[in-house]
Order: sequence, then C-alpha cells, then structure tokens
Amino acid sequence: MPVNKDAWMALKDFLDSQKVELIAVSKTKPVADILALYELGQRDFGENYVQELRDKQSQLPQDIRWHFIGHLQSNKVKFILPFVYMIHGVDSYKLLKEINKQAAKLQRQINCLLQVHIAQEETKFGFSRAELDEAIVNLTGEQLPFVHIRGLMGMASLTNDEAVIRKELSGLKNIFDEYKARYFTQFDNLSMGMSSDYKIAVEEGSSMVRIGSLLFGSRV
Ligand SMILES: *Cc1c(COP(=O)(O)O)cnc(C)c1O
Repeated sequence: MPVNKDAWMALKDFLDSQKVELIAVSKTKPVADILALYELGQRDFGENYVQELRDKQSQLPQDIRWHFIGHLQSNKVKFILPFVYMIHGVDSYKLLKEINKQAAKLQRQINCLLQVHIAQEETKFGFSRAELDEAIVNLTGEQLPFVHIRGLMGMASLTNDEAVIRKELSGLKNIFDEYKARYFTQFDNLSMGMSSDYKIAVEEGSSMVRIGSLLFGSRV
C-alpha cells in the first residue's frame, strides 16, 4: 500500500489548527515511504525497534527528528543516543539511569517522556501512578543531568469503547497537569493518540500524536 499523502495533508492541517505535533510512525515501512512524507515537509518520525531505527537513520536525511516510541531495553540505549531526538517510552528508573550514564559519555542531553500505564491490558508497559511518584522522588533526590524529562506518554486500551478510551486519556492529562505544576519546568509534551484514537486524544489535551497506519497503510 502506498503512502497516503492526502491523509497526511488533511491530518497536518487539522493538527496545526490544534497546535498538536505529528509524529509519523514508520515502523516496518521502507525508507522510500519515509522520504515520501519527508518531501511533503514531515520531519518527526517514530520507530519502535532499535536495529531498524539505526538502519533507517543512516540512510535518511540528517535533519529528521527520530522519536523512539517502543519499549527500550537498557543494553540497547547506547545504540540510539548519538542521534535520537526524544525517547517516549521510558518506563523504569533503571532505564533513566542508563540513559543518563550513556548520555554523559556523549555530553548530550536526551529528551525523555515517562510512559504511564493507563490501559486495562496487563501487557502494556509503563509506570503506575505509584511508581511514577516514586520515580519523581528519586529524580529530585539524585541528579541525572543528561536526562531531560519533557513530559508523559501513554496508550489507551485497545477497545472500540470510546468512553473507556476518553476516560483513560483524560486521566493521563490530569496526571500531566499535576506533574507539570508541581515538579518540572519545560514539561510540555503529552504524547497520546494513535490512528484509531487521535481525535479523542486531541480533545483531551494531547500535544503530540503518534500516527502510523493512517499515513503508511496497515502493517503486516
Ligand atoms: C505502532 C505505534 C503507534 C502507531 O500506531 P497506529 O495505530 O499505526 O497509528 C503509536 N504508538 C506506539 C507506541 C506504537 O507502537
């Protein structure tokens, strides 16, 4: 299936009007598809797999901002830190410490979003509310100068029940507002919303949506 340029343009217009950023999720898609959107002006792309991201990054224009949105293992951190723009799925304090350690070697501050578990499914990664509070306590006690916490990320349950999705996303927005007020400066990114639920996410206060299949077609 070819890249849907019309979908990109319509989506971009809508998101611009709402001041929401678009991350085009290109996982499993070829570099030619990424270039097709790059030529339209898209610069933020999201990938889930470390090796795939490295391969693509080396072949594509250097001004692309790469967002790592998958589950990141500590031992893979060093492979993406030289170039990654933002890591969305940070889900443990251990991972934050490893990012800080590797980033110190590069003298490069890394934008990170803390992933919050808001879905009913057991399988989705992320901090629970209690774990998040604990991580914040750790973060205020111990300096991680090369980690720049820029906001939160979350994924709603995989369901057609709009009320459930809305409740989960608005709950995440509440946590975001509370943390922004209490703990952080430059805590300005709330990454929520995918192809199936981005409209609800925007209504509930998302600042960046991660959209794959709507732009690139379904994945096999
Ligand atoms: C794959 C993925 C997306 C994009 O999903 P679509 O349904 O294709 O829009 C967004 N966020 C994360 C974390 C993903 O893994």
